[in-house]
Amino acid sequence: MTALVPALDPVVRHLYVHVPFCPSICPYCDFHVLTRQSGLVERYLERLEQEAAELAATYTIDLDTVYLGGGTPSFLRDHEMRFLVESVQRHLGWGRVENTLEINPGTVSPERAALWRALGFDRASVGVQSLDDPTLKFLGRRHNAQQSREAVSRLLAQGFRVSGDLITAVPGQPLDSDVHGLVELGVGHVSAYTLTIESGTEFARRGVQVDEEAEREGFTRTEELLAGHGFTRYEVSNYARPGEESRHNLAYWQGKTYLGLGPGAAGHYPALPPTPERLTLRRTNPHLHDWLTGETGETLPIDPHEYVTDALFMGLRLRRGLDLAALSARSGVDVMQTYAPVIARQVAAGLLEQDGDLLRATPQGWWVLNRVVGDFMEVTPPAS
Ligand code: SF4
Repeated sequence: MTALVPALDPVVRHLYVHVPFCPSICPYCDFHVLTRQSGLVERYLERLEQEAAELAATYTIDLDTVYLGGGTPSFLRDHEMRFLVESVQRHLGWGRVENTLEINPGTVSPERAALWRALGFDRASVGVQSLDDPTLKFLGRRHNAQQSREAVSRLLAQGFRVSGDLITAVPGQPLDSDVHGLVELGVGHVSAYTLTIESGTEFARRGVQVDEEAEREGFTRTEELLAGHGFTRYEVSNYARPGEESRHNLAYWQGKTYLGLGPGAAGHYPALPPTPERLTLRRTNPHLHDWLTGETGETLPIDPHEYVTDALFMGLRLRRGLDLAALSARSGVDVMQTYAPVIARQVAAGLLEQDGDLLRATPQGWWVLNRVVGDFMEVTPPAS
């Protein structure tokens, strides 16, 4: 069989920027975050500008989307946010399609919402988590439900597209009123994640447990309730009204390359030039103190087979599924032929379904996605 010629876009069109600072650390959080200390934000901003210049000198970049996440980016002071945005724009440009800012509800005044909009953000991802104050207190959040209501209304007044984050399966949480309440705020997108207890977190130390029944209910009931408000589950944990999908996150789920800027940020880069051993590269930046010294993380070559299994892992999260013909064209691997036995087995087990070139997970498949993709990883690709 003749190998296909990979047709991966050599231009990088997406940028993630990590801001690691938070006012306090939530007891369930296992992200790379730390509280603010004197002088640290200034050093972070200087190094960020240097790193942006390094990326600009290495890759061909034409941005569609920018995502400023964390941490709590909206916790940056106004002059710091201006410096960060102007550094990024100077070296890397700005997203033509979508520019998202992650926002903590306790940080939004009308003036700040106007500043963020003027700087070029057009989408806000707001960490509402719940609209029930006892649930927020249990989660160790510093904001309350009223602050979320005000924050979303201020952001909408500035013309932001707004997404609200929701955590489900929290003990004692009134899920129905949380979902209805979030929709009533006027958001067009909801990200709903089950509370998970990661090792090393305060919740893990306290022995907090998540009830499996509540987890399943969060998964199915959230979808039912949001469907009643015109939201479609377009990804395992994400729901949108028509046209409100996150273009940035879609790039991850569709296996596209993206730049990772900032401490702890993960990036997925085109290999220049691509070879049979390395189609793309992945790199996760070190945590803040090493990153400040100019250290870079290890760059891992991704071969076409690994690229395909990564793309399956991400793409099967999408309700629409994954276009196998497009994936074959991007990777140079004949996906249909190479994985035919696995696909047939998973379809027979009711975990995947195939519709022409599209392969998607069933709701049962979503529950065991790691196992499903693990089966693909067992396949030994034919030598090219
Ligand atoms: S605000 Fe978000 S990033 Fe910061 S500690 Fe809490 S969960 Fe983690």
